[in-house]
Amino acid sequence: MKMPKVINRHCPYCKKHTEHKVEVAKAKTRSSARPLSRYSRSRTNGRGLTKGMGNKGKYSMPPIKKRKMMNKKMSKKVDLRFLCSNCKKMSQKTEGFRTKKFELV
Ligand SMILES: [Zn+2]
Repeated sequence: MKMPKVINRHCPYCKKHTEHKVEVAKAKTRSSARPLSRYSRSRTNGRGLTKGMGNKGKYSMPPIKKRKMMNKKMSKKVDLRFLCSNCKKMSQKTEGFRTKKFELV
């Protein structure tokens, strides 16, 4: 998908349509996006991330990359930020959308 670098958009701070510069937000890692969910026992179980005794049958399985559900999603969500040229404040879309490729033209 291609998108222009500058678009006209409603600014919630100026309360009118102004020119906005489009930026792609840097993708956050799991730990920085949700710091409170870090290393819960139930989440890390079954993903090969737990520490402790034994290997829990890991080496009798095929490697994770060869398992069925690996790399099922071919697209990624794009997180866009809009910088108002009038008040220099940043706003964002409520939800990202999925595309294989994203380009700012
Ligand atoms: Zn504004």
